[in-house]
Amino acid sequence: MKYVLVTGGVVSGLGKGVTASSIGVLLKGCGLRVTSIKIDPYLNTDAGTMSPFEHGEVFVLDDGGEVDLDLGNYERFLDVTLTRDNNITTGKIYQSVLDRERRGDYLGKTVQVVPHITDAIQDWIQRVAHVPVDGRDGLPDVCVIELGGTVGDIESMPFVEALRQFHFKVGADNMCIVHVSLVPILGAVGEQKTKPTQHSVAVLRSLGLHPNLLACRCSEPLDESVRQKLALFCQVPGESVLTMHDVSNIWQVPLMLQAQSAHVTICKQLGLPAAAARLEMH
Ligand code: ADP
Repeated sequence: MKYVLVTGGVVSGLGKGVTASSIGVLLKGCGLRVTSIKIDPYLNTDAGTMSPFEHGEVFVLDDGGEVDLDLGNYERFLDVTLTRDNNITTGKIYQSVLDRERRGDYLGKTVQVVPHITDAIQDWIQRVAHVPVDGRDGLPDVCVIELGGTVGDIESMPFVEALRQFHFKVGADNMCIVHVSLVPILGAVGEQKTKPTQHSVAVLRSLGLHPNLLACRCSEPLDESVRQKLALFCQVPGESVLTMHDVSNIWQVPLMLQAQSAHVTICKQLGLPAAAARLEMH
């Protein structure tokens, strides 16, 4: 099983969901079977009781699960049928750990964020990643995991720590980390600024996760000099700095990633170079 982890930095609402879904489309185009998990670090058990004015539509899955609208993106982009377990929230994780604690499963131990919450997160990810969602038998090849919120948020810390441990457990060649970040254009000269991305990559690295690719959200395509600067300061190869500029229709995003050979870079990281050569987009 291979994993692609999509994290976000600087501000929320950057397009992590669209990026994660689009990466899924590319990998599916490479002939791989793709599933996805969305992590929402809020305490609500699910999105059912949350105001749509705050979080957008509540997406209802076939099994009745009321979840974040990103799950709708995944279903539409990837033509899969997800379940409520494909959406992990802090509420669900704590509920499962507290249920176990009440049952006495921890045998008198002190129940703590590390290792009990972080273990519960990793077990959940591993269990759900192995469930096929495309209507066929057999295991998926790749699970795209989107970590909601912004790295550095207090509420996402247990998830970041769990994913750091998970990355170590599955090995670097089985997990590709994509960090979605903002490159704002400031001032009368319209200069593209790299500092917010540099800072958010520094935060991510301080938490033990090193991004393999940067997906830079900008209103314009990234200048070549900006791409090289980000590569240098964030310690990723130049071809791994992707420009994710504003487009009029989000269905163009997979094509934008394809044009930058993101599938080649991701498949190489995951030890699947032959899959990248098979890419066919429909
Ligand atoms: P996040 O998951 O980071 O909260 P979403 O994936 O929900 O963000 O995207 C936030 C909004 O930005 C959505 O309305 C989405 O359609 C839009 N968006 C994402 N990427 C692009 C892009 N490249 N160009 C234009 N709009 C985009």
